Amino acid sequence: MSAGPEATRRALRADLLDFTGDPGLGAPDAKTVRYRPDHWLMIDAGRIVDVRPAAQPPGGDWAREDHRGRLLLPGFVDTHVHSVQLDVIASYGTELLDWLERYTFPAERRHVDAAHALVQAEAFVDALLAHGSTAAVVFPSVHATSVDALFTAAQRRGMRLVAGKVLMDRHAPEDLRDDVAQAEADSETLIARWHGVGRLAYAVTPRFAATSTPQQLAMAGALLKRHDGLYMQTHVAESRAEVAWIAKLFPEARSYLDVYHHHGLLNERAVLAHGIWLDDADRRVLADSGAQIAHSPSSNLFLGSGLFDWQAMVDAGAEVSLASDVGGGTSLSMIRTMADAYRVQALRGVRLSAFKALHAATRGAAQALLLDHEIGSLEPGRVADVALWDWAVGPVAMQRDALARDLHERLFAWMMLADERALVTTLVAGRTQYKRPSDDSGASETP
Ligand SMILES: [Zn+2]
Repeated sequence: MSAGPEATRRALRADLLDFTGDPGLGAPDAKTVRYRPDHWLMIDAGRIVDVRPAAQPPGGDWAREDHRGRLLLPGFVDTHVHSVQLDVIASYGTELLDWLERYTFPAERRHVDAAHALVQAEAFVDALLAHGSTAAVVFPSVHATSVDALFTAAQRRGMRLVAGKVLMDRHAPEDLRDDVAQAEADSETLIARWHGVGRLAYAVTPRFAATSTPQQLAMAGALLKRHDGLYMQTHVAESRAEVAWIAKLFPEARSYLDVYHHHGLLNERAVLAHGIWLDDADRRVLADSGAQIAHSPSSNLFLGSGLFDWQAMVDAGAEVSLASDVGGGTSLSMIRTMADAYRVQALRGVRLSAFKALHAATRGAAQALLLDHEIGSLEPGRVADVALWDWAVGPVAMQRDALARDLHERLFAWMMLADERALVTTLVAGRTQYKRPSDDSGASETP
């Protein structure tokens, strides 16, 4: 969206909802939920500066946008998603390892071309924003071109984005493999070019233990030691066949997670997707290192990978965020992701509250990424990355919404029934980066 003449002092009137702490896994508990119906959220120069009741509108030089009756949330944080897999979303009939071979690798191969990579990266970042996600931890491809494209697209929109070149020097088609020396040189170049630039951060990104030699994993660990503040992202214990393969490749390791631990890849900025087939010792290692699991329920259901044990992670004191994992996941919508997380937990006999799910997709994810000073809540001082939603779209959802007796019932119905079509507008650092086509409201009363 073009950066038109937009006011730098904006006030949005809506129902404000965010969190002051973790609501916990269990019965809905509103203690840490901060719900401020019909309030003004005030944004100045890209940051949230104040929140006021509707009866105290800001003065003359503020652009007031009246969205009363709508829901205003912090932008979603999608902690695991592949920017190069939009072409293979919703591909039929495979489990993880076959899915990589048949669909994913051919799509990723095309990102060696810089022009193709940039077009796809722009489309991907715009798609995130059109689903209400304002920050993400992203896998591009093995090609440096795909990393440059993704960071360029995010930078143009002022987005908070974490990404890095995929490391993959074995068990992949030849034109998708790097080698240790080239991977290290490319990573160093990309770190120098992008890490800490604006709202971008670099992540050392071994695809998973099977596609990196021990030498490459050691190089990845050395990169993390050499540079401050780098993230690490990878996959762990997604499917049983994958876990069995890793055990064969690394017979000396105690577990799949132990391969990463051994190579110095686990720290408080590590994001590991899935973590379905872990044991309690693994979970203690995660808790001790501060690494988080990016739970990807849509992908896990779609590929038939398994049912994530969220309760065991809580018991171990380890952190969990939510992720779409497109293209294994079938939607970029974090609302659909939350609904899928509810279904996965229901199959385990656990009821996931809407509070806990929404926390994991906003403030909880921001905290796990050490970014809660910047994103994840509507606290004054935070960057104004926010999304405005309809509480209900369509007659069934509207009827259900009208009957909700308390906040959790209402929010839960929203989580199960809404999707990206309920999104009205997305702001990144106070600027409109997505607006629903043909939206008639927003009843702007600029003085
Ligand atoms: Zn993934």
